Amino acid sequence: MKLIEVKALKKYFPVKKTAFARHEWLKAVDGVDFSLEKDRVFALVGESGCGKSTVARLLLRLIEPTEGEITFKGENIFKLKGQRLKAFRRAVQIVFQDPFASLNPRRTVYDTISEPMKIHKIAKGSELKDRVVELLRKVGLQDVLNRYPHEFSGGQRQRICIARALSVSPEVIVADEPLSALDVSIQAQILNLLMDLKQQSGISFIFISHDLKVVEYFSDEVAVMYLGKIVEYARTEDIFRQPYHPYTEILLNSTPGIKPGTKRRQILSAEVPSPIDIPPGCPFHPRCPKRFSPCDRIVPELEGSGGRLVACHLRTG
Ligand code: SF4
Repeated sequence: MKLIEVKALKKYFPVKKTAFARHEWLKAVDGVDFSLEKDRVFALVGESGCGKSTVARLLLRLIEPTEGEITFKGENIFKLKGQRLKAFRRAVQIVFQDPFASLNPRRTVYDTISEPMKIHKIAKGSELKDRVVELLRKVGLQDVLNRYPHEFSGGQRQRICIARALSVSPEVIVADEPLSALDVSIQAQILNLLMDLKQQSGISFIFISHDLKVVEYFSDEVAVMYLGKIVEYARTEDIFRQPYHPYTEILLNSTPGIKPGTKRRQILSAEVPSPIDIPPGCPFHPRCPKRFSPCDRIVPELEGSGGRLVACHLRTG
């Protein structure tokens, strides 16, 4: 069953060069399609600035799209109002990248975790307190109800953020780089916690990360984004065994510990082009070691079959 469907989604931000210049557009998300099935983990990966965090903000309806739609259980989330919007806000929760910035320093752990349950009228009184204690136990924290965020480590704060997301019994959690602000030793603990939640709670995840080793471990399907577009989409095991797109191949080859079929370590050349001035043809062609004659003129479509899609003339031309 499809919980979330993203169709032809675009988000352009206006950028002014001078006070008198016409708007240019920063194409953060430029025609993205994917879906999230129940009980699955869908990962969005790519370098910084590829548009994956903008997709996360759109999925939560924190910003409006330029074009396209996102449906949750068949309903366009950008048309939801009143009780239906409130139900959506309860069903889809987020865990942010930075657990330091996403907790109010003046609120106790109890206040932080109980607030969503009060807003959604899930519990009150002693039942509310019992639920907060149970949620904290689930994320591995005890006897911390009256403590403040500054008293915790980064990993403990991320546990509090996860407990807050769980407090309203969500169906989907959008996890936007949930490990990247944490020490490596803590990352494994939080990843194991997310894995337990995936297996025990029936929550589906949209997992946004630049860390391919984590994605390989945690996700069921992967979409690779480059300059606002999905350039490859496949089951996780397929993409890690044999990437089709040269960009995916280099990403995997440049990640220590991942070996997708080629022994030579490859490094991405040059910087990511500006999303305000996207190269013509294949947007990856200035950095692609396999580019050939049509690549700088013709945009490759995302095509394929059997759930395996790639936007590259080598595969589709
Ligand atoms: Fe490289 Fe051409 Fe494929 Fe783009 S279309 S990834 S430039 S081979």
